[in-house]
Amino acid sequence: MPGFEWFGEEERKEVLDVLNTGVLFRYGFDAMRNGHWKAKAFEAELCRRIDVAHCHLCASGTAALHTALAACGIGARDEVIVPPFTFIATIEAVLNIGAIPVFSEIDRTLCLDPNDIASRITPKTKAVIAVHMCGAMAWIDRIRQVCDQHGLILIEDACQALGASFQGKALGTFGKAGCFSFDPVKTVTCGEGGAVVTNDPIVYRNADQFADHGHDHTGSDRGLEDHPILGTNYRISELNAAVGLAQLRKLDLMINRQRKHKAAIRNALCDIPGLSFREVPDEAGDSATFLTFFLPDEDAARKAVSDLAGAGVDGCFHYYDNNWHYIRKWHHLKELRSAAPMPIHLLPDRPDYENIRLPQSDALISRAIAMLIKLNWTEAVLAKRIEAMQQVLRRYV
Ligand SMILES: *Cc1c(COP(=O)(O)O)cnc(C)c1O
Repeated sequence: MPGFEWFGEEERKEVLDVLNTGVLFRYGFDAMRNGHWKAKAFEAELCRRIDVAHCHLCASGTAALHTALAACGIGARDEVIVPPFTFIATIEAVLNIGAIPVFSEIDRTLCLDPNDIASRITPKTKAVIAVHMCGAMAWIDRIRQVCDQHGLILIEDACQALGASFQGKALGTFGKAGCFSFDPVKTVTCGEGGAVVTNDPIVYRNADQFADHGHDHTGSDRGLEDHPILGTNYRISELNAAVGLAQLRKLDLMINRQRKHKAAIRNALCDIPGLSFREVPDEAGDSATFLTFFLPDEDAARKAVSDLAGAGVDGCFHYYDNNWHYIRKWHHLKELRSAAPMPIHLLPDRPDYENIRLPQSDALISRAIAMLIKLNWTEAVLAKRIEAMQQVLRRYV
């Protein structure tokens, strides 16, 4: 997910616009800013790019998730169905809003299994967060159907899937709200940043207010604006927004390059018997930030990742052993360890995260290897990588 690979003049120009005015704040200072509104411009361009009505930029993807939950009216004691394979931020956002994460199995897409969601629903279930992991999509139409059938709010964590789509519709626009991240390892980076997108004007208004202490953003004088709700400060700075704006304009070029590199590697591996690929419900909509495949068992996957690294094939992840992206290693969550008591600590009937069993997810993640697709690989580098991968992987299938 490497926006950081293509970084240069365009980003510098946008940042200099901001530095030359000295206005780093996204609101106000109209007379001093020389017409530069980087956050607003980023929001408008992102809306156009993914065909959505509203966008509100935040300080991070995590802030965007927290803001989206609040904006959709999800809060204390609500149960929110989440996948066990995601970046921990998804779970933290649910806990920080005072709600309860409830885990549901993933399927061969490595995203929530639409067939497993219904069995996790209780009278307290309010929402589902579908996470589109590693640049590609969940069966989002079927997840949406389950949510509609049961009256649940759908939120998409599309932090890793900017620019990806399902049947021509951008990921992040299927539910009541969608979230993106622009942190340093995402497809588009602005240092730190995130976005909430929605087609619902009320959700947008709530997000816009929540992320700025409840300001209603109607007056020219901030001190005289009303504060319809309590919120917090999840604002993005103009400097970060400026970088993001330049990066966003490269998104299609980046995705095209990634797709080309991914297709070359995938084609070269597809005749290895015993090696299978992650299911991608709409291959044409894949943002191609990762190539993800399954080996026959956990042991093979673990050894293959180590051998791939030894053979110079960098950027391969065995998420079963990774501390951040799969529940197996989330000891802090299992013991609900935090710096201070959280709302969930007060609930006697909270889920027992320590003894949670998700055999279907374990069986998939333990065998999965995800390889980061880079933009700057030359033909020669790509050919060498393919040869090394073929050699290593044949040993384990
Ligand atoms: C990166 C990421 C986040 C959090 O984004 P930050 O901008 O780093 O706060 C949330 N969910 C997923 C799936 C992510 O990959």
